Amino acid sequence: MKTTIIALASLFSFLSINAQTHSHAGAQPLSYPDIEGYVTLKTDLHMHSVFSDGKVWPTIRVEEALRENLDAISLTEHLEYQPHKADIPHPDRNRAYHLAIEEAKEHDLLIIPGSEITRSAPIGHNNAVFITDANQLLHEDAKDAFSTAKKQNAFVFWNHPAWYAQSPAGTPILSDFQKERIKKGELHGIEVINTVDYSEESLALALENNLTIMGTSDIHGLIDWSYTQKGNHRPITLVFAKEKSIESLKEALFSGRTVAVYNELLVGKAEYLKPLLQSSIEIVKAAYIEKTQVLEVELKNISSSDLLFENAMPYTFYDSSPVFEIPAGESKILKVKTLEKLNTLTLQLVALGAYTAPKVHPTIKWKIIVE
Ligand SMILES: [Zn+2]
Ligand SMILES: [Zn+2]
Repeated sequence: MKTTIIALASLFSFLSINAQTHSHAGAQPLSYPDIEGYVTLKTDLHMHSVFSDGKVWPTIRVEEALRENLDAISLTEHLEYQPHKADIPHPDRNRAYHLAIEEAKEHDLLIIPGSEITRSAPIGHNNAVFITDANQLLHEDAKDAFSTAKKQNAFVFWNHPAWYAQSPAGTPILSDFQKERIKKGELHGIEVINTVDYSEESLALALENNLTIMGTSDIHGLIDWSYTQKGNHRPITLVFAKEKSIESLKEALFSGRTVAVYNELLVGKAEYLKPLLQSSIEIVKAAYIEKTQVLEVELKNISSSDLLFENAMPYTFYDSSPVFEIPAGESKILKVKTLEKLNTLTLQLVALGAYTAPKVHPTIKWKIIVE
């Protein structure tokens, strides 16, 4: 009994030490703050199981999402590419969705029905999510698959447009097919981050064509092997929804309220990326060092992304480079040389890991009241 108590005591002390120590391990649950007027939903709407060319049973996708504290996922099996079909015949193409929703029913994880409409270039691969029946999306002509998805009120996005297997230069080519789909209201979003690839050209297309910016894992194997064991999180799309529900998520995606995130990289329209970064930094304290005009400002990064900033104020720093990082979950004390004592300070930093357009970083402002 005594040994049990000692063992338990040492287990608890181990756990509490672990809880206090910051770690970059990707198995930590993801966390991003809400922005004004919206809840921030962490989503991955592109993944595969053995019901297309993935390597795991659909329930594993649910468990992986729960480990990373995601709010919504979609199993988007290739409709037209079914390499395991001889071993796992499944006449109903909604089967992966049904298995996932059964696994998730005790949890607060939204499972979105989806499918990947799979063609060679220039049509490429496209995910239709919020569909009502995957079977009806099977068509000879891709145009019919898109029009059926529209009839089902699906949100459709262009997958990995920069994939070099389909575009050898590694840059997306917007063909007449996509132009026609956009015009007809059959294509609504575009992956700017897929797996580990961020495409600036895809971001440019998103902004030019008012397509929703997406980031997805497109995982086929295990999240653990591909990301967690390398100290990373999977790519996700943060969606700013009115509430956590399937209907709100869908409305937000159609309205383009997203930021694509892959670890320290954040990509989104300025109107959503700026408030996200603003909310990600908490001002813990701001006070002058006694008998000086050096203002100490303690900043805490409450997001799961390491954030890299550059000073954009006329004032310079004491004992810090103008470029500095605040790791996820950690704090940093900036010493700002304000030359005279101020009652308020507008802290201005350029977010170097964030993009609102190709090669464009947002500048974030915080109004600080000095203690
Ligand atoms: Zn694909
Ligand atoms: Zn895929």
